[in-house]
Amino acid sequence: SADLERDDPELFESFRLEMDRQQNQIELIASENIASPAVIKAMATVFQNKYAEGYPGRRYYGGCEFVDIAERLAIERACKLFDCSFANVQPHSGAQANQAVFMALLQPGDTVMGMSLDAGGHLTHGAAPNQSGKWFKAVQYGVRREDALIDFDQVEKLAKEHRPKLIIAGGSAYPRIIDFKRFREIADEVGAWLMVDMAHFAGLVAGGVHPNPLDHAQIVTSTTHKTLRCARGGLILSRDEALGKKINSAVFPGLQGGPLMHAIAAKAAGFGEALKPEFHAYSRQVVANAKALAGALMERGFDIVSGGTDTHLMLVDLRSKGVTGRDAERTMENAWMTCNKNGVPFDPEKPMVTSGVRLGTPAGTTRGFGEAEFQKVGHLIADVLEAYAQSNGDNGAAEAKAREEVKQLCGRFPIYTQGL
Ligand code: PLP
Repeated sequence: SADLERDDPELFESFRLEMDRQQNQIELIASENIASPAVIKAMATVFQNKYAEGYPGRRYYGGCEFVDIAERLAIERACKLFDCSFANVQPHSGAQANQAVFMALLQPGDTVMGMSLDAGGHLTHGAAPNQSGKWFKAVQYGVRREDALIDFDQVEKLAKEHRPKLIIAGGSAYPRIIDFKRFREIADEVGAWLMVDMAHFAGLVAGGVHPNPLDHAQIVTSTTHKTLRCARGGLILSRDEALGKKINSAVFPGLQGGPLMHAIAAKAAGFGEALKPEFHAYSRQVVANAKALAGALMERGFDIVSGGTDTHLMLVDLRSKGVTGRDAERTMENAWMTCNKNGVPFDPEKPMVTSGVRLGTPAGTTRGFGEAEFQKVGHLIADVLEAYAQSNGDNGAAEAKAREEVKQLCGRFPIYTQGL
């Protein structure tokens, strides 16, 4: 059997170091999670060897009868999970899921409308450096200055002015539940399709703690590895089967070649887990933990964008504390709490500096942290950042103190206790 430790020690060492990092650091990156051993096992199967261009029952290669079983399971489970009749589980990533929708519904030069990156949208929603911003006429909406909530007056005004063919709702750093119904009304008014990109909150929808965007959007895209805690990849859903046919053609042969059958099998494994009642409890806890973390930070005088969160993530505006996002990310990393710097709405800093950090609870919740642990994490973050601000960055002692506490917390909630 394979023994990477013996046969490729150089590569094995990178795995070992990464496992140690995940084991000993608190993962606060809102888009990350800790997949189950079953999901990881499904990834590492002989499905990785198989070419299976096409769809179950309609492949361009022989020998696909067994990968068909896995892909059919993934499709059936995704449809059950999100209460819809169409699922394409082949997109290699969330970005490609979005591209496939563009390919299915748009021509180059058409107008699309999405939330701007600085308001919390995603690159693929029409940002200038992304293909979505280069090949389409991208109109970007934002949030209101006073409460950091989506500015629906602006959405409506822009939609009427530019008459986009596709409106995109959803984002990467928006902490509140989005009014999908309002988006659909605006889309209908101007004859646009509505696509919701639920990459971030898909797991909360699956767990029944967040409204299902399929109740309003004709198309929903997602990643599978964030709150949903499956294998890395993308997903496209709809309740409209005619639209589904167009989406299938756009994914293959429009955009991709051979699907990653091992990843699809692992998506099926993860969807199976998400269908279990335990996942409802998990999702509830993710949201309760986010509220607890935001609450602890607010107690310590930190500004949380929009005053809190309804989801798994929050944006901390650090301006009142005199720390930039870049410095906060670095000093928190030194204290073994991993997060990412993130622009806040109307951020005066450059994207590589930023005035904020984005924090999320999906990974910590998977390892067993509850509200008490996340309150503790909030205070550890506050200790490190306040010490950073007060000492002009000379806060090594505070980092070391927090690191000790992080070590203890992680030691109490180890990951992969049964091995992989
Ligand atoms: N859509 C949203 C809202 C995201 O947050 C992300 C990931 O960050 C993506 C799409 C892209 O997903 P991927 O990184 O799998 O391409």
